[in-house]
Amino acid sequence: MKTHAGIGMTSQRTRDRLILRLQEQGIKDERVLDVMRKVPRHLFMAEALSSRAYENTALPIGHGQTISQPYIVARMTELLIEDGLPENVLEVGTGSGYQSAILASLIPRVFSVERIRPLQDQAKIVLTDIGFRNISFKHSDGGWGWKACAPFQGILAAAAPTEIPVNLLEQLSIGAKLVIPIGEEGHQVLQRVTRTESAYEVETIEPVSFVPFLKGRA
Ligand code: SAH
Repeated sequence: MKTHAGIGMTSQRTRDRLILRLQEQGIKDERVLDVMRKVPRHLFMAEALSSRAYENTALPIGHGQTISQPYIVARMTELLIEDGLPENVLEVGTGSGYQSAILASLIPRVFSVERIRPLQDQAKIVLTDIGFRNISFKHSDGGWGWKACAPFQGILAAAAPTEIPVNLLEQLSIGAKLVIPIGEEGHQVLQRVTRTESAYEVETIEPVSFVPFLKGRA
């Protein structure tokens, strides 16, 4: 496993402090807290930033993108698995690969789509290094979903479109949930959509701040 030369920032105590923060912010699912305690977030960013890896904050990962804030990763995961663990999940926006690692620690098959190739290549290296073998990657616009591997028992998007992409709705299996931020920058809300036999039920969860969901590949 890759290790950054550490001066205590990767210590268990530092990580436990983050878990405490998450609990204070209302994260309750023990399964989520447990994997958040174990996954080494400092490996998903440039070494120069790793002293801040266990702060509850988003950090830059290059290409104008960020590694999501731990709280939001925990919250979205909790919302996705609340009614039971899905067998497979589509993640839109691999980014650093950190959310992928959290998902893949809980869910048997993870399919992750990213439009910026260098980000996905780097994420793939780190995730393979740490030992994940249950994540498939695709360099693509997540607005298309991943039809060949659909339907999904869960979908999680880490970038905010202004409207829910129809392809993502269509690629949910019955009973599956889509967790996605929606709206223009500065006015986004987190939504959870559950597909039922005859409809899509939408819950609005809380205000959030994500990078925009962009079209095409880069
Ligand atoms: N969960 C990731 C979040 C990265 S930020 C992490 O913690 O590292 C969101 C990512 O979504 C960025 O890498 C961005 O390039 C990607 N993205 C934005 N629009 C997209 C789209 N239409 N399809 C695929 N990826 C997209």
